[in-house]
Amino acid sequence: MDLSLPAAALDWQQRARAFAKEYLFPREIELEMTGSLPKATLDSLRRAVREHGLNGINHAKEVGGQGCSQLELTLINEELGKSTGALWAVVPHPAVALKHGTREQIETYLRPSCLMERRACVAVTEPGAGSDPRSVCSRADRRDGRFILNGEKWFVTSGDVADYIIVHANVDGDPEKPTLFLVDKSLPGIRVAREPKFTHTYVFGHPEFLFENVEIREDRVLGSVGGGLELTKDWFVEARLQIAANTLGAAIRAFELANAWAAERQQFGRAIRDFQAIEFMLADMSVDIMATKSLAYRVSCEIDNGADRNLAHAHASVLKLQASEMAGRVLDKAVQIFGGRGYMRENPVERLNREVRVDRIWEGTSEIQRAIIGGQLRKRGSGVFTGWVNEQAIRREK
Ligand SMILES: Cc1cc2nc3c(=O)[nH]c(=O)nc-3n(C[C@H](O)[C@H](O)[C@H](O)COP(=O)(O)OP(=O)(O)OC[C@H]3O[C@@H](n4cnc5c(N)ncnc54)[C@H](O)[C@@H]3O)c2cc1C
Repeated sequence: MDLSLPAAALDWQQRARAFAKEYLFPREIELEMTGSLPKATLDSLRRAVREHGLNGINHAKEVGGQGCSQLELTLINEELGKSTGALWAVVPHPAVALKHGTREQIETYLRPSCLMERRACVAVTEPGAGSDPRSVCSRADRRDGRFILNGEKWFVTSGDVADYIIVHANVDGDPEKPTLFLVDKSLPGIRVAREPKFTHTYVFGHPEFLFENVEIREDRVLGSVGGGLELTKDWFVEARLQIAANTLGAAIRAFELANAWAAERQQFGRAIRDFQAIEFMLADMSVDIMATKSLAYRVSCEIDNGADRNLAHAHASVLKLQASEMAGRVLDKAVQIFGGRGYMRENPVERLNREVRVDRIWEGTSEIQRAIIGGQLRKRGSGVFTGWVNEQAIRREK
């Protein structure tokens, strides 16, 4: 079994690593201390993303993307995830659901998003609908060949910089007709109700939107009427894989910094790594990272090799749960190894420690991932998680 990474994947890894080092890390302190970056800096970062060919990485070349495999995406996102302030978000991943657009929608929304001329955000969550997207109240009523959208959406990541919103709403208020709509932000009736502050520093915002009698063209339905939940599920899978890779990168950066510090810092006349208490923390961090990396690359390869939708969904949940919880454990230890210095905002470890907390909440909380895994155990049996990729096929042949 050859576990070496293909040359093309290694090229992407190097490109992303160099990009993070040259463009993202140098902006971290300014972002942390001021809470935002000037427009000119964001514009220059956008240009740099394009110049480095990191635009549209998750879409096919035919629609303006880079045609990266899932393994390549994981390697890229691992490198970008090492940055603080969620600076990885300057490399957009236009929502995977856009692939299901009509030819016109692809030209109007997906291609310009891949070329970074447009930017999307995704609005599913509402005050009354978080973990359970089936309980959304936003509605799109059919009237005279149009839809009239009303509702309230919360936590819309990058909603401040996006120029269109992929809105999840029920057609005619019917919960059996959950549907995604492509909604230009400039349409009358859309307003930002609030821009709350969060635990983390994030390069963009997470505003709350109100939609009041927004008229939407009939051809702005993405996919089919009633097909919204399935497309949202695809978005969750993609986002969970990205979160896993980002948190893996965050953990690796923190581990490397803590490991170096443990060798450098002297107390009681010796390096602190010579105390077994510290050495064992470093050992546990190594194990956690290695296990998560192995899982992340495995699940990515399964998807590249055509894993069916249900398996991809189940394994993406395992990976997201493992990676986000692992990052919490590793970051907590990294802070501890740095002592008081680990509590200073100028230290990337302090920032990452705060920032990985949300990874156990967004795109499905840890409890929801466990519920998905439990559901799959009931439906498909334990082999989905305890078996190996081609094990069942081999047994059948015998
Ligand atoms: C910074 C940030 C950015 C976000 N960006 C976006 C975005 O761009 N677009 C978007 O649509 N949403 C976004 N979200 C929303 C995010 O996906 C939700 O916060 C998340 O799904 C949880 O929903 P909730 O906050 O309503 O919590 P709730 O669903 O109210 O859950 C509260 C608690 O109850 C638990 N719980 C709920 N149901 C169950 C169950 N069945 N079994 C066991 N425990 C359960 C949860 O695990 C949690 O611990 C974002 C959130 C944050 C914080």
